[in-house]
Amino acid sequence: MINEEKENLSFDPEILREKYLQERDKRVRADGNDQYVEVKGDFSYFVEDPYVTESISREPNTNTYHTIVIGGGFGGVLSGARLREQGINDFKIIEKGGDFGGTWYWNRYPGASCDIESYIYFPLLEETNFIPKRKYTNAPETLDYFNVISEKFSLKENALFQTEVNEVKWLSDEKLWCIKTNRQDSIKAKFVIHANGFLNKPKLPAINGINDYQGHTFHTSRWDYDYTGGDSNGNLENLKDKKVAIIGTGATAVQCVPHLAASAEKLYVFQRTPSSIDERNNSNTDEEWFKSQKKGWQNDRRENFEGFLTGSFSNRDLVNDGWTEIFRTILGGLMNNGPSKLKIFSWVISAPFYSDFYKLGLKTYIRNEFMKFISRKDISQKVEMIDFQKMEKVRKRAEEIVNDPQTAESLKPYYRQLCKRPCFHDEYLQSFNNDNVELVDTDGKGVKEINAKGIVHDEKVYEVDCIIFASGFEVGTDYSRRCGYQITGVDGITLSEKWKNGLSTFHGIHSKGFPNCFFYGPGQGPFTANFTHSLDEQSSHVAYILKYLDNKKLNFVEASDNAEKEWNETIISKARNMESFQEACTPGYYNNEGKPNTNPQNNSYGGGALEYFELLGSWRKNNKLQGLVTAE
Ligand code: NDP
Repeated sequence: MINEEKENLSFDPEILREKYLQERDKRVRADGNDQYVEVKGDFSYFVEDPYVTESISREPNTNTYHTIVIGGGFGGVLSGARLREQGINDFKIIEKGGDFGGTWYWNRYPGASCDIESYIYFPLLEETNFIPKRKYTNAPETLDYFNVISEKFSLKENALFQTEVNEVKWLSDEKLWCIKTNRQDSIKAKFVIHANGFLNKPKLPAINGINDYQGHTFHTSRWDYDYTGGDSNGNLENLKDKKVAIIGTGATAVQCVPHLAASAEKLYVFQRTPSSIDERNNSNTDEEWFKSQKKGWQNDRRENFEGFLTGSFSNRDLVNDGWTEIFRTILGGLMNNGPSKLKIFSWVISAPFYSDFYKLGLKTYIRNEFMKFISRKDISQKVEMIDFQKMEKVRKRAEEIVNDPQTAESLKPYYRQLCKRPCFHDEYLQSFNNDNVELVDTDGKGVKEINAKGIVHDEKVYEVDCIIFASGFEVGTDYSRRCGYQITGVDGITLSEKWKNGLSTFHGIHSKGFPNCFFYGPGQGPFTANFTHSLDEQSSHVAYILKYLDNKKLNFVEASDNAEKEWNETIISKARNMESFQEACTPGYYNNEGKPNTNPQNNSYGGGALEYFELLGSWRKNNKLQGLVTAE
């Protein structure tokens, strides 16, 4: 970097680079994902359902269906909606919880909300005519919206709630799947869609003495309102004479800490790594504006959002929020130095007279050129510099909001913006100005010991009435473990056995040896911050395949050897070389707890989510189920 440029900066890049590495080194642990315990056995009380008001009683189900969908979150209800649209009605959605909602059923902690814009996060808005109240929605409105979708597509009549799948097995003779549950169901189905979600299995840090603790304790995804009082909007009145500790400071804690701070007599926030917290700026929906949107607006808007996240050059930022700002800043900084052909093409694809066909080709071309461009060394340095500037602003924000300088310093994140999930909140940092709130900065070490009375840290016992675990969800563990059931395919081979050396799929959806079986989430598919966008694309895609098979009276579909091999190769060749970036990151679930994924086959689709959606779209247009083997 030239000296002149360096002089204009308010920080020294070399010092910051060194500081980032020091902070990472404090946190890297040899045990990686094994630092967490699986929530079962002695810990299973952490995953009991606190929200069910009435336990269902029913006879075991032994029927045979066209399709079984496992999971009643957005993936499950979207599957139901898209199946109905295709005229397929003989299906059941099996859901562990007492209602639809998935992640939103479980995560109804105080303050739970979504910081992806509601106009793109809520799927099917054009079909349901629902108008979200605010730019960013919250858990109660999201659960209400599940009811809206469910009513629109009459999904409740197809649901088996309070039912946990514990085995899924292919019956070769019958060419059917057999699904067993904790309610002694033995259901058969021609097709199975695994819509289990991505962050569905709570995890706990393996802290000595968790079960010795005599006070009250729970995980944020099973919030105990009987104990705290209040609801998702806060007002936790039962905590007014309680001392509470929360372990973890990720996106969940950032949202519930302000409510705990407002209600508890005393709140200790145990921090291992601070989150990066930028402004959220929520606002009410302008209904006139909303109603004036033209047909197809929602897809345009979510594609526009996704475009910013994957390096497309759009001249209009429709969502215009903290997410797109991250990428707009990087793109804007680069465009000044970028190859002029990229700039020209970006204007060309915005022109209305170009056909979709040309636009698609140009977009893919631009994205590929862009990826080549940013992997150049001089450009990587420029991106790093823009990142330093952005994170300096985030750190400055903590300093400006938090009164106590030492606490403010502890709350500053020293890592690159996308090492961890960025958070956006306008009350979290302010909570630390309350007299009853104390940040316990463990300086990267985390909580290591709990005793009967509370948390032991630096030889001090923090005696508390309640410990809340905001410690997140399993990500890097075996897919079947996260599902909570094993899938046994052709010749008795389990999915865990097939994938023991890496994922192997076609489109991230099919895997050979597991016919008539569809996956939405294990990997080799799209990665996007707006997860419902992927679920919508994938559920529409699977519903199309099922309809195709029904029309042709086909009962069997499986990825061909070749198609799966080619897709694995595509995943490997398109894997963005993020290894060095991730290695330099502070540990977290984005980099497999500091042990970046070295098997390129386990990556998501490296061309980005938009390119993946376009690819599935052209595949459907081709209308031949190319790459799939079918039979009657
Ligand atoms: P995370 O995995 O992001 O956070 C877990 C937290 O627990 C981290 O701060 C982690 O520290 C901490 N931790 C783990 N072990 C210890 C220990 N021994 N001592 C102290 N702290 C410890 O889980 P979340 O539930 O917060 O979020 C999960 C994901 O859910 C988010 O990334 C996001 O994708 C989604 N989400 C989205 C929201 C939104 O839209 N706003 C809101 C909530 C969740 P460390 O960082 O050091 O590992």
